[in-house]
Amino acid sequence: MAKKGLLLCVCQGTCPSFHKMNIFEVLNEIRREKLVDVVAVHPQLCADDGDQFLESFLSGHQIDKLYVAGCSPTMQEKMFRDSFARAGFELKDFVGIEIRNLDTPQAIEVIKKALIPNGKN
Ligand code: SF4
Repeated sequence: MAKKGLLLCVCQGTCPSFHKMNIFEVLNEIRREKLVDVVAVHPQLCADDGDQFLESFLSGHQIDKLYVAGCSPTMQEKMFRDSFARAGFELKDFVGIEIRNLDTPQAIEVIKKALIPNGKN
C-alpha cells in the first residue's frame, strides 16, 4: 500500500495567512483519523534547509504520495521540483493544497478533500 505523507508549511509562522488556524489541531485531526502515515510541520519548505528536509523526509520515510498544505500548489510545484528530482520522487505523486486564510475547520476540510477525493480513502 502506498505510503502517504502530509507536510504543513506555514511561512515561518509570521505570515498572517496562517494565523486563523491552529496548525497543530489541523495535523492532529488528520493523524487521529489515520488518513496519512506520517505528518510534520515545517516553517519554510522553500528555504535551502527546507529542500534538504524534503529530500530526507521523502527518502527516510519512503513516501510514495506527498501532500503539502501551505501556499498555492503552482508555487509549491516550482519551488519543490528540484528537491523531488534529487530525491527521485515524481511530480505526479505530489499534491499541493492551498490552505492560506482558512480557519482550523476549513483547513481540515480542504486537506481531507485532497486526501479523499471521492469520499473514499
Ligand atoms: S513553501 Fe509556501 S507556505 Fe512554505 S514558506 Fe514557502 S511560500 Fe510559505
